[in-house]
This record gives sequence, structure tokens and C-alpha cells, in this order.
Amino acid sequence: TPDEVLLSQEHYESEVRSYPRRLPIAIKSGRGAIIEDTKGQVYLDCLACAGALPLGYNHSEINQVLINQINTGVPYQTLDLTTPSKDAFIKAVMQFLPANFAKTARIQFCGPSGADAVEASIKLAKLYTKRNTMMSFHGAYHGMTNGALALTGNLGSKSRRTGLMSDVHFMPFPYDYRCKFGLGGEEGAKQSIRYIESVLCDDESGITKPAAIIVEPIQGEGGVIPAPKKWLQELRRITTEHGILLIFDEVQCGIARSGDHFAFEESGIEPDILILSKAIGGGMPMSVILYNEKFDCWNAGEHTGTFRGNQLAMASGAKTLEIIQRDNLAQNAAERGEQLREALRQIQTDFPQIGDVRGRGLMNGIEIVKPGEFNSLGQAEADPQLAIKIQRAALELGLIIEKGGRQGAVLRFLPPLIISEVQINFVAETMAKAIAIAVD
Ligand code: PMP
Repeated sequence: TPDEVLLSQEHYESEVRSYPRRLPIAIKSGRGAIIEDTKGQVYLDCLACAGALPLGYNHSEINQVLINQINTGVPYQTLDLTTPSKDAFIKAVMQFLPANFAKTARIQFCGPSGADAVEASIKLAKLYTKRNTMMSFHGAYHGMTNGALALTGNLGSKSRRTGLMSDVHFMPFPYDYRCKFGLGGEEGAKQSIRYIESVLCDDESGITKPAAIIVEPIQGEGGVIPAPKKWLQELRRITTEHGILLIFDEVQCGIARSGDHFAFEESGIEPDILILSKAIGGGMPMSVILYNEKFDCWNAGEHTGTFRGNQLAMASGAKTLEIIQRDNLAQNAAERGEQLREALRQIQTDFPQIGDVRGRGLMNGIEIVKPGEFNSLGQAEADPQLAIKIQRAALELGLIIEKGGRQGAVLRFLPPLIISEVQINFVAETMAKAIAIAVD
């Protein structure tokens, strides 16, 4: 029975399991942005495998491509050997990149997960610069392997870990709603840059020059915070001036989710290393890093791994990139995102518990606060308990949303890029009902 399915997993699966605690459902099937559980209840899914399913569940063309790929007879896994499907995938990625970046780009296959690619980028930056330290940001999320976790800003997830890479320096990320300097907007972003620059120029700062600065152009797990254009441009200037590599982690915000193919495009600059995973495999496990050929300082075989030749991921990834362009899904992400933020702002006028509505494209969040209560910095008091209640109420009404943010008080919307206008209306209506239930 459906309940037995859930119970057996609770019995056998490690205590480390995460999503099933907040989403206690057993999934039977999915199509588009909708999933059905084993009890026959349907949900609109604004999590969609944490952003790894840009075309939603069981897209008919992706299903067909996977079946065709199996029928070619090419093995599912081929290490990093050459195959026609890999060739087609590489060409599709190069074509999807901004033309200038693609001109000199090298692609490196890293393995199944985003963290694998983060690890590769750290090693490459250290190798190229012959330096040992890294710079990252408050609220950053880069994964759960030892190196990637060391770059992650959230102390909660690191509190029981020892022996992580220690030479990581965390700088303030421009977070308007809770600006570290008490200054929001452009002034806050400027202060953040001045601080980073002063630290890099000051021999007495106690901070050695890093191999690289790694940043998410839109922070995801840290609470859906888009970095301002000007700030990214200034980061580019500083890193170039100091000979530091600039790494953009677009594992979550890349592949049309921001409304552009890549979130960094809006700022008109380019990273030295670009990290991609999740959507790049069209739902199959895949991660890569891309960089200018001048950084390709590896010796042959210096960074290996078994699972870098998933042919199903090559096929579904290439087809996904093709469909995103053919169906103008970057534009859909931009328009549906704007529609959602507008609707959430409307709801905010009735519920002061929504402290902030923000995001870009189809990466959006609302920050849940205690109205009229402020911390010692004069910032609205976060309300993680209410965020949990709203998430639960939404689930009961047939809507799956995720929770994240610095204090666990940001409700996050990360639907597939194919979500429709009618479905966004459903998200907004359901959120209004869920908040009303939760605050009652
Ligand atoms: N970087 C970013 C920005 C992410 O959002 C994530 C996953 N949420 C990762 C890296 C790690 O990816 P994975 O979970 O596949 O290791």
C-alpha cells in the first residue's frame, strides 16, 4: 500500500534523508509540472528535482530521445571515450553558450553532480594560479563534498564537520533586504566591493590572495538573491586586476532559468570558469566546467573519474538545450517569473508576514518575517516556523514549494521552465490560501 512504501523507506533509509521529511509523499508518476502520488493526489511541483528538470517530468521528446539512444546500441556509460552522442552534446553546449565565451571555451566533464564540478573548478584554479586559498560569499551554496562544503557559507550544514579546507575567506554578498552594512541597494553593493578590494590590497588584512573567487550570480539555497549587475562587473574588474580567477557557479541559475541562457549574461561580463550541472543533463546526471583554453593547464589524466560518459545524459542534455531554444523557454521563464512576482507582491499587501518578494526569471522567493519585530541590526525578524507551516499548508492544497535562506525563512519557487500562465495563477492562489491557513 502507499503507506507501506513510505514506512519501508523510513525504516531502511539513513537518517540523513532530507526532502521526504518536508514532502512526505510517495511519487507514482509525473508529467510536465505535475506529479501524482501513490494515493492519487496531484501536485503542481515548484521544486522539480531542485531545478534539474527544466522541461518538467516525462517530456515526450526527451522520453523518445532516451529510448532512441538506448536503441543505438552505444553503451550507457563510456568513461570519457569518444562517441557520436557526446560529440552532439558538446556542439549543443557550445551553441548554447554566449558566442564570445564559446569561441575559446574548453569543456571538462566532471561527473554526475554539481559538487563534482565545483571540486574540479577549485583544483583547476589552484593549479593555474599556484595559490591555495579561495574566496566565497556569505550565504553561498556550492555542494556537500568536502571542498564544495568548505566554500558554502551556511554554518549549520558545516557545524559537525571538521577538517574542511580551511583557507576560504567569506565576503559579504549584496543582500538588499538584510544588508550587512545597513545600506541596501547600490550603496550596499559598492561597500561590499570596497571591502573585498581593501582586503585584497591590504597586506595586513591577514588574508592571502586567493586562487579564485567563486560566486552564484543568483544565490539559490542562500535565499534566492540575484547579484546586482554592477556588482558582478566590479567583481570582474577586481579579479582581473589582481590576477584572480572568477568562477561562476550556475548549477542552479544557469540554462535559461534566469530568463537568459546564463544569469551572468545580463551583466555583460564573462567568468574564467563556468560551472554547470542540474538542467544541463535534461534530468539525467551530468556536470561540466567550461573555461578559456588558456586555463587548461591539466596534465593528461590528472583529474579523472569513472562516470563522465553517461550517454543518456548526453542525449537528453543536447535535446533539452535544443528544445529550450526552439520553444523560447528563456522568454517563458522571464515572463512567468514576472507574473509570479507580481502576484506575490499583491498577496504581500494582505500579509505583512511576507517581508520581501524577489528573484529573476523562474528562480523566486519570499522571505517570511514576524511583522513589527526587528533584530539588533534593525532587520525584520525572520520566521522559519511560519515558513514551515506555509510550506505544509501549500502541500495539502496541492502545491510543492521549497524552503531555504539564511534562517530557513525563505520559501522558494523553482518550477520547470515550461510552466504556464494558468499554472502560475494556481501557484499564486494557492499561496494566498496557504498563508491565510498558516497565520490563522
Ligand atoms: N552549486 C549550486 C549553486 C547548487 O544550487 C547546488 C545544488 N543545490 C550545487 C552546487 C551542488 O550540486 P549537487 O547537489 O548536484 O552536488
